[in-house]
Amino acid sequence: MDQQLPKHDCRNFVKKVFLVLDGELPEEERNLFIADIQRCKGCLEHYSIEKTFKDFLSVKLERKECTNKLREEIKTMINKEA
Ligand SMILES: [Zn+2]
Repeated sequence: MDQQLPKHDCRNFVKKVFLVLDGELPEEERNLFIADIQRCKGCLEHYSIEKTFKDFLSVKLERKECTNKLREEIKTMINKEA
């Protein structure tokens, strides 16, 4: 398995980390990427920070959507009463 992996390159990590987090790489390439960064503590740490940050952002975005929906509902209610 290890033989299939190219030599670890931290610059490659930086290039790919956001593609992986955005789900823009095919699963095979993503798995390769994950396997690759297991060998580098720095990249692994960086990856988990970025991932946590992204999860945090997507939770925030979902909340924003809810808020907009609620606002629309309130608007509709007000319009009905007027
Ligand atoms: Zn690295």
